[in-house]
Amino acid sequence: MKIKVTLIMLLMALISCHNKKKVVSKVVFSNEYKIDSNRVKKHLYTLASDKMEGRRTGTAGIEKAAVYIEKEFKRIGLTTFKDLKTFRQIFTFKNRSTEKEITASNIIGVLEGKSNKNEFVIFSAHYDHLGILKKAEQVDSIYNGANDDASGVTGVLALAEYFKNKNFNERTLVFIAFAGEEMGLKGSSHFGKEIDATKFVAGINLEMIGKNPIFGPNTAWLTGFERSDFGKIIQRNLKGSPYQLFPDPYPKFNLFFRSDNASLARLGVPSHTFSTTPIDVDKDYHQVSDEAGTLNMTVITQTIQAVAKGTESIVKGTDTPTRVVLE
Ligand SMILES: [Zn+2]
Repeated sequence: MKIKVTLIMLLMALISCHNKKKVVSKVVFSNEYKIDSNRVKKHLYTLASDKMEGRRTGTAGIEKAAVYIEKEFKRIGLTTFKDLKTFRQIFTFKNRSTEKEITASNIIGVLEGKSNKNEFVIFSAHYDHLGILKKAEQVDSIYNGANDDASGVTGVLALAEYFKNKNFNERTLVFIAFAGEEMGLKGSSHFGKEIDATKFVAGINLEMIGKNPIFGPNTAWLTGFERSDFGKIIQRNLKGSPYQLFPDPYPKFNLFFRSDNASLARLGVPSHTFSTTPIDVDKDYHQVSDEAGTLNMTVITQTIQAVAKGTESIVKGTDTPTRVVLE
């Protein structure tokens, strides 16, 4: 009997030890970097829902997403950009395959800087995706674009709320949900035409931050890492946390030029994209199976926290990344 009790106690001790270990590894960021994970889930599941009909630029589906993002910007307490009267920056472009003119809206919200109002930092992601698959026989025909890029827009919304609450941004923060990315970076190109790029200190673009990265838990990678010292600033700010940032492991995919960061980088802005997705093997990329349920909510929330902590010195105005090199 005594042996049995000792055995049970030993077993219980082992289990509690194991549990403790699990709890410790889950706490990646202290409460100082708290992001409301329920809110994160709500953003993601709303934007990636079937109701949004795949958010193809120029459709009624993406309009629903636009309205959701506007409402969130208003709730958070952001203001409008430059001369715009609303959060919308409306523009038109010609669809390169159908030659049809499409009207689209970037959704832009601003958190004015406390002192350096004329130095801008962008947080962006594209809210458009591919729409509805034409083949009618398909059971699921909606490209939900949960990872691509409802996850990134979720990050932008969560960061807007986070920085609003922190109230420490000496620089002006510009939160943008771009349209027309999937049709050739249309929204970000339009935005780039309307600004004096020399006043834009950094561009932080989020793209597909919902999958487990190849470098393991608590990691993300950055496109164009060697093109400015932006990535090194982030790494320095993340020191002391278990979260690590790596250079883009897929250089042959040329990802630096394939997302909205490129439109600003072409103007000299140190503008890079954060991602966690193993794009070379991801079976859901640009498929109707890219649904919210396939994503890891912990990866999304912790990556948003990593971006918050990683960009803090840029937001506060104590670090300024070098201008981007395109050669
Ligand atoms: Zn994308």
